[in-house]
Amino acid sequence: MEEENKKACVFCHRDDNQVPLVQLRYQGRVYWICSQHIPVLIHDPAQLAGSLPGAENMAAG
Ligand SMILES: [Zn+2]
Repeated sequence: MEEENKKACVFCHRDDNQVPLVQLRYQGRVYWICSQHIPVLIHDPAQLAGSLPGAENMAAG
């Protein structure tokens, strides 16, 4: 069960009391990622497999 409305980083699960979070929209859902893990999304999205559906198929930038 995805918890897409929970405001916590999809990677490290810290919330916005602990880190700045950036909202993502992906496949019609809302996710959050912290500033520290935005580079993971950009450069190595396969690390988010299991957190974002299909992340293992996302192209790295
Ligand atoms: Zn994070």
